[in-house]
Amino acid sequence: MAQRIDGKRISAELREQVRREVALLGGQGISVCLAVMIVGEDPASKIYVRNKKKACEELGIQSQEYALPAETSQEALLDLVEQLNQDPAVNGILVQLPLPAHIDEKSVLEAISPKKDVDAFHPINVGRIMIGSYDFLPCTPAGCMELIHSTGTEVSGKRCVVVGRSNIVGKPMAMLLLHESGTVTVCHSRTENLAEICRSADILVAAAGKAGLITGDMIKPGAVVIDVGMNRDGEGGLCGDVDAASAEPVAGWLTPVPGGVGPMTITMLMRNTVTAARLQWRQTARALPSSTRQGD
Ligand code: NAD
Repeated sequence: MAQRIDGKRISAELREQVRREVALLGGQGISVCLAVMIVGEDPASKIYVRNKKKACEELGIQSQEYALPAETSQEALLDLVEQLNQDPAVNGILVQLPLPAHIDEKSVLEAISPKKDVDAFHPINVGRIMIGSYDFLPCTPAGCMELIHSTGTEVSGKRCVVVGRSNIVGKPMAMLLLHESGTVTVCHSRTENLAEICRSADILVAAAGKAGLITGDMIKPGAVVIDVGMNRDGEGGLCGDVDAASAEPVAGWLTPVPGGVGPMTITMLMRNTVTAARLQWRQTARALPSSTRQGD
């Protein structure tokens, strides 16, 4: 029977570390601030933004929320991004996706200063992740790596299969597993023999957004299975991409949905925001004349 990977507990432990770090920085006179922009009335996006704000409050991180009407022009949004880029009091900037159809998501994400890009979606940060020299990791894949580490499983040398090739989950997930010397296969909607490939995985990450796609017969006995999927079941409840009932008797480790990857994503965002604050503070300290510099 699979052991449960308790994302809620692991996330709470990591949040405690972040809270201590924020307090430590506060003691040095450095505050940490995340600015979140939301355009329109998408109910799911509103819940995500509310949860991010709540997490900031719990950890002592200041938050600024910009709730803009759906008809906001791209130019106005870009102006706000630029204003926040220039504001030394703001350490992290996040634009909640999706944006309304008349706004070009790519232009907005590329306008965020890479130093404040706590989602790690800017092409510069994506490129840095590719070469393994980064300041921020995208939140969901970073959270998945923490969950894998929590099982005590060494990624090095293991067969890893990622189902999904999106820019925000599948591709960076594959890259992080590769950085830890996993042998990685990425599957997607055109993959042939998905079941056979999944069955070869010591570490299987499901990020397709298809309820019940991964069934027990597609899992190698004892495998670590990370379920990123967040889907609605027939009754409006939340379910993952893995069919838990058939997966549990086969997998060695399995994340529940909810309570697995979900709580980790916001925790990683909080960690990235603290990293951004620390990096910006160091940069400012270096720019100061040595007579006015405080200890680094
Ligand atoms: P996406 O729609 O951008 O990408 C889905 C990927 O899955 C695509 O690459 C597609 O090729 C692949 N795919 C679709 N059907 C497939 C099939 N039958 N077989 C194999 N591959 C298939 O989605 P995304 O943004 O990457 O998100 C994936 C899932 O993860 C969604 O359910 C989303 O809600 C969830 N998610 C959860 C969190 C979290 O914090 N828990 C964060 C981000 C995304």
